[in-house]
Amino acid sequence: MSENSNATDKKLKQAIEARMAVESARKYQVDTLSNLTSKLSLSCKGLDTELDNRLAKFRNSLNKGVGFEILSPLIDDILLILQNQEALQIAHQRELFSSVQNAGKLLQKTKGLPDDTRRTLRHLLDHDINNVQSTHDYIPLLNQLINFYHHALHSKLSSSDSEQCAVSPKMANKLLELANELVLEDESTEQIKQIKNAITESDNLEELLQAAINIISVVVKNISKERQSAQSFLVSLNQTLEELHSSIVSTSQHSKSMGVEFDSLNKRIEGKIKHLNEQTQSATSISSLKELVDNELKSLSQDFIAKEQLERKDREMLITSFDEINERIGSLEGKLSKYKKRLNEQRFKSLLDSLTKLPNRAAFDERYNHEMHLFNVQASDVTLVVIDVDHFKSINDRFGHTAGDITLQVIAKALQKSVRQSDFIARYGGEEFVLLMPGLSLSHAAQPLDKLRKVIKNIPFKFREKEIEITISLGATQFKQGDTPLKAFDRADDALYEAKNTGRDRLCISK
Ligand code: GH3
Ligand code: MG
Ligand code: MG
Repeated sequence: MSENSNATDKKLKQAIEARMAVESARKYQVDTLSNLTSKLSLSCKGLDTELDNRLAKFRNSLNKGVGFEILSPLIDDILLILQNQEALQIAHQRELFSSVQNAGKLLQKTKGLPDDTRRTLRHLLDHDINNVQSTHDYIPLLNQLINFYHHALHSKLSSSDSEQCAVSPKMANKLLELANELVLEDESTEQIKQIKNAITESDNLEELLQAAINIISVVVKNISKERQSAQSFLVSLNQTLEELHSSIVSTSQHSKSMGVEFDSLNKRIEGKIKHLNEQTQSATSISSLKELVDNELKSLSQDFIAKEQLERKDREMLITSFDEINERIGSLEGKLSKYKKRLNEQRFKSLLDSLTKLPNRAAFDERYNHEMHLFNVQASDVTLVVIDVDHFKSINDRFGHTAGDITLQVIAKALQKSVRQSDFIARYGGEEFVLLMPGLSLSHAAQPLDKLRKVIKNIPFKFREKEIEITISLGATQFKQGDTPLKAFDRADDALYEAKNTGRDRLCISK
């Protein structure tokens, strides 16, 4: 009995152990499956909400330990959704393939793409893209493509930046030159000064454009003002002329009517004298003759008095008329001379640079052409010098436009003071001056020109307590047979260019 029960005990124990083993194996399988399901749900998360729900439900059921008969339909559902997903993915992959290719081709056509980028891009489109097997393979390609786009955009942006930098200073200088040539009424001078400040401080095209628009509107305002004043002068001139005309007409009409009166009075007097003559012939006695003459003389003397009065009246009328006409002519002369003076002032002003008070470019051109003409006739020596302030932009940049303006005024004054009376110095534009030295050959001009350079260099400029040395570069040439104004100027300009390129603060000569 005890042997039997022992055997039973042993079997029971074995059975219990076997069941525990089965249970732990099943638990392990369920855990692994549940783990797999959660990983799967995680990696599929967001692909399809329906799939997310099904997977969560499956995981729950699994953890509850439900039987396979419950799990099986859930698995079928999931499989169906996954199948649909696969088809969708293939379609997406195809779409992605063509949009990557299109983006690449578009980029290839973009201007300004660096050469090496273009080369790698071509390789990517011709080769790499065709070896793609799965959506994941696209990710590095896409990354690369995005990098190319980044490069392309970057080089485009920096090229447009450098374009702006390259263009702006040139445009700003040109605009400043134009603004410098404007000679306008007093109130506009201040406006132009402000615009010039804005140009110097501007660092983008839009501001420059705004400055250009402002210049144009100041000019337009001035033109219409000038036109109005010219118009009102012409209107008043016209009025005065009309008054003068009517004055002359009324004087002549008056003279005509006076003439008629004179004629009839003269005829009357003539008639009376004739009548008296006849009467005296036929007079029979002295007393009758005396009486006759007496009467006729009385009537005649009345006529003479009338004639004299008429003459006096005529004279007075004429005098007043002439006085009136004189007065009108006087006022006309006054107006004309005022206008002439204004025109002269305007012309004088328009030949003078408003900032430095030196002759401006227009004045220089006039004198330059004249000197060239004289040279062609007389062939006497003329030296032409182009002078440019060195690194002037940095004065503006460091100390402001007003400091720059004052510097130009000081330099201009020093230049003017240092040249001979017979020389002609003008502000050509910006920080550039031109000097004409009639009667001086290049070899004779070199020494005074170098002295001029030193004069400027030695001016003790001081900005914000800082001593600054300002230098100039000079390019000189001499008029030659067969020169045109342009040829000679180009030679001087070449010499200036050489002075700039060989270290500035020097005089270079172009023979
Ligand atoms: P470089 O030695 O090569 O001549 O250098 P730079 O700086 O003198 O020459 P750049 O042509 O680059 O600059 C000239 C500057 O002169 C730029 C412009 O702002 C300034 N400028 C031109 N006209 C005026 C002006 O009327 N007033 C002021 N304050 N500045 C002016
Ligand atoms: Mg210059
Ligand atoms: Mg300069």
